[in-house]
Amino acid sequence: MTTQTKPDEAPAAAAGDAFLSVRDLKVHFSTEGGVVKAVDGLSFDLERGKTLGIVGESGSGKSVTNLAVLGLHDRRKTAIDGSITLDGQELTDADEKQLEKLRGKKMAMIFQDALTALSPYYTVGRQIAEPFIKHNGASKKDARVRAIDLLEKVGIPQPQTRVDDYPHQFSGGMRQRAMIAMALSCNPDLLIADEPTTALDVTVQAQILDLLKDLQQEFGSAIIMITHDLGVVGNMADDILVMYAGRAVERGTVREVLKSPQHPYTWGLLGSMPRLSSDVDEPLLPIPGSPPSLLNPPSGCPFHPRCGFTDLVSGSRCSGERPTLAQGRAAACHLTGDQRQQAFIDKIQPRLG
Ligand code: SF4
Repeated sequence: MTTQTKPDEAPAAAAGDAFLSVRDLKVHFSTEGGVVKAVDGLSFDLERGKTLGIVGESGSGKSVTNLAVLGLHDRRKTAIDGSITLDGQELTDADEKQLEKLRGKKMAMIFQDALTALSPYYTVGRQIAEPFIKHNGASKKDARVRAIDLLEKVGIPQPQTRVDDYPHQFSGGMRQRAMIAMALSCNPDLLIADEPTTALDVTVQAQILDLLKDLQQEFGSAIIMITHDLGVVGNMADDILVMYAGRAVERGTVREVLKSPQHPYTWGLLGSMPRLSSDVDEPLLPIPGSPPSLLNPPSGCPFHPRCGFTDLVSGSRCSGERPTLAQGRAAACHLTGDQRQQAFIDKIQPRLG
């Protein structure tokens, strides 16, 4: 039995063309039980003004990847290998001072839970103004004007008075909007949104996604949208990267991945999504089993213990040989193109409707 551990190959755009370029990124944590390979050979590119949706279950490595881009891992406990370049600047060897300069000014994060991300002790206005003062050397007066302007942009009513409110005086949707305003404070070129709408009800969710799209047009930021929900990326993203066990398993444009998914894991994610066209009592099709331990990931294709298509692949390739991701539109799977097409038509399409 052989286990290949080749790194992902580079995507279509050559390194250096993209605004954000990640190459063969590895993020490994040392624990008492051994080394956790949370991200293990990931490559992708993102251009200015575009949105990349990174999709996968919890523990697939999507949030760890983005914390590495932001330089937020504790370097003493985390081994980071590979390359992350932002606008030509290598981030993996940048020191904390350089990273702090970039965070807020060039890249910013929108977290899932605004209540935890915003400090309860400071007014919303102060929290939006602070990065503007820190990175642009603005006066308190100018930063307050900026905070009011941003609150208005993100749709907070009466921003001149609400700027002095504390986070607990805002509703959940308003807090999320305030956090977006905080992230936009210095017009960052890269915005990373980690499950930005998960904690919100469906109507507010749609409003926040529309708001992000509008703001992206106005500010021209590149966005990474991290989510477990393919519906969210369908609305927002230009391209999709599907992650499993710390690696990319499928990559393509939104249309390609949602209309003609290639990887059995992506089929599983789509099958477990509720659809408007399905009967109310039609059961969802969850992916069997649970994501693997990244301390001892399965040999070969890490999805093989949960995959229903291993019998189509000859020999024991699925459990013995790790499939790699080719360039451009691709899936890391041993099924041939014909096998995939047939399996999709016979078994998946009828379920997806
Ligand atoms: Fe399934 Fe094998 Fe493809 Fe992995 S390589 S997704 S186990 S068919």
